[in-house]
Amino acid sequence: FDPYALIARDRVGIQDFVLLDAHNSETAFLDNLKKRFTEDLIYTYIGTLLISVNPYKELDIYTKKQMDLYMGVNFFELPPHIYALADNVYHTMLSETNNNFILISGESGAGKTEASKKILQYYAVSCPSSTLMDTVRDRMLMSNPVLEAFGNAKTMKNDNSSRFGKYMDIQFDCQGDAVGGHILSYLLEKSRVVHQNHGERNFHIFYQLVEGGEEDLLRHLGLEKDTKRYSYLVQGECSNVSSINDKDDWKTVKNALSVIDFDANDIEHLFGIIASVLHLGNVHFDGDTKGYATLNTNAALRWLLEIHVQVLHEALTFRKIEAKSEEVLSPFTVDHAIYARDALAKAIYGRAFTWLVNRINESLENRIICVHDLIDFLLILCVLSFEQFCINYCNEKLQQLFIQLTLKAEQEEYEAEGIGWEPVQFFNNKIICDLVEEKHRGIISVLDEECMRPGDATDLTFLDKLEEKMGNHPHFVTHKLADKKTRKSLERGDFRLLHYAGEVTYCVVGFIDKNNDLLYKNIKDVIRLSKNPMIQQCFPATEGDSRRRPETVATQFKNSLLRLMEILTAKEAWYVRCLKSNDNKQPGTFDEVLVRHQVKYLGLMEHLRVRRAGFAYRRRYEVFLKRYKALCPATWPHWKGVPADGVEKLVQHLGYQPDEYKMGKTKIFIRYARTLFATEDAFEMC
Ligand code: ATP
Ligand code: MG
Repeated sequence: FDPYALIARDRVGIQDFVLLDAHNSETAFLDNLKKRFTEDLIYTYIGTLLISVNPYKELDIYTKKQMDLYMGVNFFELPPHIYALADNVYHTMLSETNNNFILISGESGAGKTEASKKILQYYAVSCPSSTLMDTVRDRMLMSNPVLEAFGNAKTMKNDNSSRFGKYMDIQFDCQGDAVGGHILSYLLEKSRVVHQNHGERNFHIFYQLVEGGEEDLLRHLGLEKDTKRYSYLVQGECSNVSSINDKDDWKTVKNALSVIDFDANDIEHLFGIIASVLHLGNVHFDGDTKGYATLNTNAALRWLLEIHVQVLHEALTFRKIEAKSEEVLSPFTVDHAIYARDALAKAIYGRAFTWLVNRINESLENRIICVHDLIDFLLILCVLSFEQFCINYCNEKLQQLFIQLTLKAEQEEYEAEGIGWEPVQFFNNKIICDLVEEKHRGIISVLDEECMRPGDATDLTFLDKLEEKMGNHPHFVTHKLADKKTRKSLERGDFRLLHYAGEVTYCVVGFIDKNNDLLYKNIKDVIRLSKNPMIQQCFPATEGDSRRRPETVATQFKNSLLRLMEILTAKEAWYVRCLKSNDNKQPGTFDEVLVRHQVKYLGLMEHLRVRRAGFAYRRRYEVFLKRYKALCPATWPHWKGVPADGVEKLVQHLGYQPDEYKMGKTKIFIRYARTLFATEDAFEMC
């Protein structure tokens, strides 16, 4: 392994867009990305922002030797790499004792999950550790395969698509040891449990269990070793995927579960729940002469959640209505019964997933010994496709954060260093965030209001209300308004939001139902009869006692996003922007149209502009002097005075003009890329 060969290899294009001369040209931007991608150089910087282009093939750049190389090295001294970013964040945290987070974004299949795993692996290998820390580390690493098994699925875009949002804290003590972690998950795509589109699968864990589960376990759970037998697994008609080995993955997951402290009992209960969902999917209904639902067989019920068959049967075919002081049983129609069955399956799986995340957190948190010693949090966050509306709202919020932090950080730095600064103008998407989230007036409020209206509220009345309230908003379009605002027409029943990244059309069908996410009370009561202790924890008896309406899904999501933004605003942000190279998962293919689109909506050109508006480059005096001191007799081999004075001597010797640079309190700011380029060239020659 020759580190110089590595450095020599990365000579294609420009490693940092800030140094690109044609910085306003999107074409030059794309050319540089493409040139590098063709040479397997998938990483490029915009200052400290890292761009990663999915290569769709294994590259030999993630070895232990590579990690060693990047450890403790100055950010710009080596070729761009996710390890450089991880290392830089780690050292910033240690030396400046501030809070940091890394935000990873990009569309489905762009490589967010892979990037977050690489960062985690880097910390696992590079942080100092003791035996105790090893345990934390192993658990942190092992939480990944478990969460992926339960939260990822094959979609059209990605064979291992994360169907939930995740952010993760890693807690370090003052020595820089990883001492604990915390995972927050949000918006699991529960609808996938009961329905998959063509070419897509249910969550991996179902296939892993059925394909890989040991005979004893399967017998105990009443499962057959054939995924085709389960109606919740066959809708997408693609239970086998060439890139996935469910049998092997089952072993990995079982092993991972044992590392995070699951004993045989826990495992039995957990898979009892997973199996119950499969059995539930095989409960089918016939209509009697009046059209009411009857169960065609009790067979599947026998295996369900350790609840008495008759009780369950009743709960799936009747609804209990409380009228005055009486309870009346009202029979379900077939459609209604299917709806109730699916709602139950989704609720069970969704809650089991939350339970699992909490359980992993316990296993990570128990290990924090000296909480008062914690100096830092580091956050890795993945943004994922889920219910499009919620996720796009989330993306708007993250963009808003990006705008605030980029500008804020930049402005504060100039101020702190005593350097004048003229703010850059660009589109602020706050107006769209408000459109979605504003109290009483935003789309979420209107939706909640409709959900609260008993009886006659429907998706269409919701749309009418939206039209009435937001008709004049420049970023909101409906059928009626379409011609006036945009040239593209709209179907009845749809509305369109002009997101910062582009126009998106939403169909209102299902909005009310999904936002309510209701489970009939008698079904809940019946579930609580289960002898499975995990189910008892997932459906606590105390819940639902209160007369208050539970928060709707959108409001819960909004509140958790607002909390997250509050936390993140106080931290230093680092960005990884993942780009998809093509739509066919093909190695070595760079689809220019696709990449250009992503560059646009991820705001990369804007970011570059902000970066360059002030000063293209800044370096701490010590660092600048250390690198270039050989270029000036006065600073070579050692400069004995204050670093700032040494730098002044150095740049005067190099002939920097007064408008080319400014001296801050701790850093030199260089306005033009070419200035630094020339210096860098001189350095390489000498
Ligand atoms: P989603 O939003 O659907 O969860 P994602 O952005 O998390 O998508 P990943 O699952 O990280 O996407 O990546 C998709 C696939 O692309 C991976 O399974 C892997 O095959 C490939 N891939 C991503 N990043 C890399 C990389 N750095 N090196 C090699 N292959 C990669
Ligand atoms: Mg992912």
